[in-house]
Amino acid sequence: MDFDYDLFVLGAGSGGVRASRMSASYGAKVAVAESMFLGGTCVNVGCVPKKLFVYGSHFHEDFQDAKNYGWDVPPSTFDWPTLRDNKTKEISRLNEIYNSLLDDAGVTLYNHHARLLDPHTIQVGDETVTARYILVATGGWPVMPDIPGIEHAISSNEAFYLPEFPEAVTVVGGGYIAVEFAGIFAGLGAKTTLIYRGEMFLRGFDDSIRRFVKDEIEKKGVELLFETEVTAIHKQADGSLQLDLTSGTTLAADTLLCATGRSPKTQGIGLEEAGVALGDNGQILINDDYQTNVDNIYAIGDVTDKIQLTPVAIEEAMCLSSNLFTDAPTRRMDYQNIATAVFCQPNIGTVGLTEAEAAADHAGDLDIYESQFKPMKHTISGRDERTLLKMIVRRSTDRVLGIHMVGPDSGEIVQGLAVAMMAGATKAQFDATVGIHPTAAEEFVTLRSVSRQA
Ligand code: NDP
Repeated sequence: MDFDYDLFVLGAGSGGVRASRMSASYGAKVAVAESMFLGGTCVNVGCVPKKLFVYGSHFHEDFQDAKNYGWDVPPSTFDWPTLRDNKTKEISRLNEIYNSLLDDAGVTLYNHHARLLDPHTIQVGDETVTARYILVATGGWPVMPDIPGIEHAISSNEAFYLPEFPEAVTVVGGGYIAVEFAGIFAGLGAKTTLIYRGEMFLRGFDDSIRRFVKDEIEKKGVELLFETEVTAIHKQADGSLQLDLTSGTTLAADTLLCATGRSPKTQGIGLEEAGVALGDNGQILINDDYQTNVDNIYAIGDVTDKIQLTPVAIEEAMCLSSNLFTDAPTRRMDYQNIATAVFCQPNIGTVGLTEAEAAADHAGDLDIYESQFKPMKHTISGRDERTLLKMIVRRSTDRVLGIHMVGPDSGEIVQGLAVAMMAGATKAQFDATVGIHPTAAEEFVTLRSVSRQA
């Protein structure tokens, strides 16, 4: 049977764009449909604008820290529209780049919503087209909790475009987005409160990291309310919000940001018509080769609700394109040792197992190395900020199982260490590595004494 396209991709986010370009480079005739902005969550309302905001929010500390280095910094003021709009300009530039990348690769772009009519037929705008393979890469969308008055709250999507900068912000949630935005708002000058329902936020991260980050975030003036939930949101006559809390108290805020997770975007794209099976969270169910229960339909990235990280979607796209359109041996992504960073302030960088995960398999066989220190910059600045490094080593094999860090540029540092982890580095190999002096990262190759055995 003849098809209009070899591959039709729904969604031009990080995964969809990479799969389109790579497949086209292997000779496939490819189309991609996107009804919003090119680049998806990461480029438009995620990683990229968030990191720009993190940079923006750090300046007030930089100005303060400059004083003991001899700089006379006049009182500074912050103008939100300047940051917001310069960020938006940069995003528009990236949207254009994505457009050119697709164009240069010979991929047909439909700026329309697409929906499947059957396993090979797609309605896109006013057109109906057919494809041999279909890839669903529609990503995810913020989930808002079911609280009376939730219509007065915003998600991270809106946080990037606030008309005015709030004086008081409350963030609900204890994951990546909550801690990152709490840092951004506090750094830009808002009175910031973070409310988390459990006893310690950043569930899933190493416990030492979680406790350490809690202390550092509090030092920066963010109020942390744990084991607390918002039960109702009331809009006041002056436009501000009053939040009822499970503690029985109330909290005033100008803006309430709910960062309470993201769910796969699987509605309204014809998955039912095509017979694609979904899991309990609405995620598309796939096998190890990203194939759904319908032979010619595949899914990658956040819509599969596996690991919601841009570089994961991109690597999945690389594997899938190669498998569909080349004769190379089947390529599968290695989900072990995926390094990640949280851009709270200071940053978290992490790769490999947490201590709890390592102990689940190797209890009694672990050496834990931990080091805390004041970063050199702050010996003169006087700022009370500390850095934490942690390494988890399996004693019997000397293999490094996990590396965790909280401190400036942790993500940059841990990215390099992730290569060592992929190569199966031992503690002895770390010890034999010559440090770069003076850096914080050199501590990872000079961790001499075991902090404790576990
Ligand atoms: P997460 O899943 O990381 O965290 C959601 C948080 O919200 C958890 O603390 C959860 O609590 C809490 N929560 C969930 N439902 C409710 C509720 N009804 N009421 C109160 N609290 C609730 O989601 P995020 O939204 O922070 O981020 C989504 C994903 O995006 C992340 O998992 C990450 O993969 C990705 N991301 C990556 C970034 C990076 O790489 N730097 C940056 C931002 C996002 P509990 O722990 O109790 O379940």
